[in-house]
Amino acid sequence: MAAKLLLLFAICRLIVIVGLTLNPNELFHVGIKSQYPQLIVNPHDIESVSTDFGKMTFTKPLAVLNPETTNDISKLVKLAYESPHGFAVSARGHGHSINGQSQTANGVVIKMTRSSTNHHSMPKVFDKLMYVDVWGGELWIDVLKSTLKYGLAPKSWTDYLYLSVGGTLSNAGISGQAFNHGPQISNVHELDVVTGKGDIVTCSKDTNPDVFHAVLGGLGQFGIITRARIALEHSPQRVRWIRVLYSNFSAFTQDQEYLISLHNQPRSKKFDYIEGFVIVDEGLINNWRSSFFSPKNPVKISSLGAGGNVLYCLEITKNYYEGSNSDTIDQEVEALLKNLNYIPATEFTTDLPYMDFLDRVHKAELKLRSKGLWEVPHPWLNLFVPKSRISDFDKGVFKGILGNKTSGPILIYPMNKNKWDEKSSVVTPDEDVFYLVALLRSALDNGEETLTLKHLSNENRKILKFCKEAKIEVKQYLPHYTTQKEWMDHYGDKWPKIYQRKMEFDPKLILATGQRIFDPNFAPNAMSW
Ligand code: FAD
Repeated sequence: MAAKLLLLFAICRLIVIVGLTLNPNELFHVGIKSQYPQLIVNPHDIESVSTDFGKMTFTKPLAVLNPETTNDISKLVKLAYESPHGFAVSARGHGHSINGQSQTANGVVIKMTRSSTNHHSMPKVFDKLMYVDVWGGELWIDVLKSTLKYGLAPKSWTDYLYLSVGGTLSNAGISGQAFNHGPQISNVHELDVVTGKGDIVTCSKDTNPDVFHAVLGGLGQFGIITRARIALEHSPQRVRWIRVLYSNFSAFTQDQEYLISLHNQPRSKKFDYIEGFVIVDEGLINNWRSSFFSPKNPVKISSLGAGGNVLYCLEITKNYYEGSNSDTIDQEVEALLKNLNYIPATEFTTDLPYMDFLDRVHKAELKLRSKGLWEVPHPWLNLFVPKSRISDFDKGVFKGILGNKTSGPILIYPMNKNKWDEKSSVVTPDEDVFYLVALLRSALDNGEETLTLKHLSNENRKILKFCKEAKIEVKQYLPHYTTQKEWMDHYGDKWPKIYQRKMEFDPKLILATGQRIFDPNFAPNAMSW
């Protein structure tokens, strides 16, 4: 009875907030009670979806849906669409956004991940066809575990695997394989999507391509991904993981760019993964993302003759595929390393199982959790920087604004634009090669001013201001803006397409309102582009 009253209360709130004209009893009677047994309004569940990894935004939805099937989602979205003014519906993957992207105050959050109370279809591996079908809320770690049973694995990754398939495909999904295979959105054959009208659409490059391209990188704006068919390759068994250090930024970026230019070469003549990071303060050579350098053998920046405070670390891997052994890998690695200009004798190498490499960040997560350092605010800033301006960025940001303190890992690696499908909804800089620069910082309240949320957020603002003033045409990855004008600038020439997609697939602006791209109050004819 109490649950029933709570549900009724939530529906009444929906009606007050969005002005539904349906009688609440009628709504309760026709829809919710019989058709939505998975709709939950208890405070614990509401609380559990009210914040995210960023820990900077808190928004309580009116209810939470724990769906079992695509149909459950479709029914709820249809109800929102067909009611006179609608209410918001936000899919939540694993809630690893930074700025409340999967939150909503005026509606329902759909919990897409697996839980003890729902029974989504398990990943289905089609080993002969080299793909896997997965539920949109599946975590990548579970996708990997299911495909490894067949000796197969997806080709393109994120650094961290406890993210949902639908969540990363709504952004792009990038890691060190992207230079070669493209982002995760370039490795999807087919999707099932529930559009903002509640329609269920199966789509691919050939069937309903407009929906397919719209939702990939679509920030949840055009549909909810309930199934993804992901391309697989034969899984490597092991990985040779190598790090080398640079004190000279242009030597570092030239080497990175040279290595990603080998993407069309046979497998033996290129690395499989290329990333890099900036080391600004000595303590962070072993940052939380991975404890690679042995604590028994600490690397002292001062011992490397860096001459300044900033070092750059190139991080590369070579996979052991069928037929590889440590001798063949030695030879292939040596042939590639001899063309690079890193500081002599700064090679650090380790060998490990493929799964351990892919799941490396989780180990660090467990350590941070045990020290209470995971559940802190994360004012992260991720930028795509055009290749032509990366050295200006280095001077202005790494050596300028950040001074001698980073407060967290800073990743930097280039990607080839031709591996990204222009038809998707994601935006990247207008150059053949662009860099990801990821400032993955954690705010602490330990008395040190430079680690406070205020300080780090201020630095982020300074970085964006610097780029604007220096006319470095960066694009935010996992973007966060607060005004429509900023979103229009972000999308640039793509804005009319994005707007048209919204009007076609979610004309009542129901989906993923936490992204704050489309303000429900804005009049379409007030737009100018
Ligand atoms: P959520 O935060 O739950 O949702 C993100 C957005 O997607 C929301 O707008 C939501 O409404 C929408 N959404 C969620 N599920 C669906 C769905 N099924 N259909 C449609 N829309 C949906 N990103 C990278 O690319 N590479 C990395 O290496 C990487 N590493 C990370 C490491 C950590 C520790 C963290 C916290 C984040 C990392 N990210 C990385 C960022 C991550 O990819 C995004 O934050 C992503 O959105 C998280 O997925 P999620 O499942 O938690 O999504």
